[in-house]
Parts: sequence; C-alpha cells; structure tokens
Amino acid sequence: MYDVKGNLKTVVDSLPQGVRLVAISKYHPNEYIEAAYAEGQRIFGESHEQELRVKHETLPKDIAWHFIGHLQTNKVKYIAPYVSMIEAVDSLKLLREIDKQAAKSGRVIDVLLELHIAEEETKYGLTPDALRQLLAGGEWRTLEHVRICGLMMMASNVDDTQQIRSEFRQARQLFDEVKADYFADSSCFCERSWGMSHDYLIAVQEGSTMVRIGTTIFGPRVY
Ligand SMILES: *Cc1c(COP(=O)(O)O)cnc(C)c1O
Repeated sequence: MYDVKGNLKTVVDSLPQGVRLVAISKYHPNEYIEAAYAEGQRIFGESHEQELRVKHETLPKDIAWHFIGHLQTNKVKYIAPYVSMIEAVDSLKLLREIDKQAAKSGRVIDVLLELHIAEEETKYGLTPDALRQLLAGGEWRTLEHVRICGLMMMASNVDDTQQIRSEFRQARQLFDEVKADYFADSSCFCERSWGMSHDYLIAVQEGSTMVRIGTTIFGPRVY
C-alpha cells in the first residue's frame, strides 16, 4: 500500500499554522482514507456524489466531507443531509438549490464560490465579473440555509510557477475586494481554498487558508 501515513505527515508538517488540509480521496479506496483518519485527518474531499455517498455510509461519521467537484443541481438533494462544505458553487441557480435542499434537511450548508481565473477554457467557475454580479444581485442574502464562507479556485495546470503565483494573487485580490464590499461584518467569510499537490506550496505563500491535496498523499488515482 502507498505510504499514506508518511505522505500525510510530510504534507501536514509543511503547512503553516492556520492552513487546513482537505485530503482529496476521490477514486481512492476506504483503506487509504482510514489510514489518514488514523493519523488524525478529519476533512476529506470528493468530487462524485455516488462515490461520496458510499464512503459517507461506510466510514466514520465524524469525517467532514467537502464536495469539491462540479455539482449538478439534481444531485444536491443527495448530499445536502450530510455534506460539510460544498466548495465549487459557480451559479446562483446552484446556490438556490443548495439553500432549498439544506432547508429540507434543517441545515445551513457552508459553501465557497468557485472563481475562474485560470486560462484553460474547460474549467468551471465564476469569472471575476460574474462573481461581482452574483454578489451585487443580492439574492444570496435571502438564502438562509447557505453560508458563503469564501472562495475556491484552481490555478492553471502549467509548469510556469510565475503564472500560477500570479493567478493565486489575483484570487487573493478578489477575495479582499469582495470581503470589503459584501462581507466586512461576516466572520465566516474567511476561506481561500487554493493549492493542490503540484502548487500548494505556492498557494500557501499567497495566502491560501485551505489546501486540497490528493496525489501527494494517496498516490496516483486509478480511474
Ligand atoms: C482532484 C482535485 C484536487 C486534488 O488534486 P491533486 O493534484 O491530486 O492534489 C484538488 N481540487 C480539485 C477541485 C480536484 O478536483
């Protein structure tokens, strides 16, 4: 088995205080998650509703599950009863559906708004202007069962560390802008979820509060 324990320790030891680790366990078996759990890891991230459902049912109940993938509105109802955070909200429509399903479960669900800064066109997320528009619209204020806790983004998948750094900086600037404009009184709008296996050390230098790391801990995914 892959050295989950050793890799997890290496990652955790390399994170500054205050930066939380979301261990991305998608496509990895329960035994890998259990190995990380045994070392004290409690936050795990998954990107497919069905896989998450099975893992949620079979693994310890004190795991905080983050949904990190693109979420279709018709899948929200399945994860709303138990998910801890939905990280990649990129439309008002999705936000409304999360609010509706959270209300049915008698919950308030923490979400992050996904920002699209990377140059790749295939990625999801709100452009800076779309983010500003969504917030300026104000409807989100009426959604009592979602709590917007910050922003999430993925940098371009490139080797050019200057480009990656510049994208994290843009994300940080945007975070500061919307924090000042819309969330100045909100103590919960504080998360900046950026940094994956190949770029998390740059991300934490650029102010990430939450890194999402899979491969470095669990090894390559077998699809
Ligand atoms: C898979 C995934 C990750 C983890 O990627 P690694 O390169 O394995 O660390 C992080 N964030 C999102 C949104 C993902 O889908």
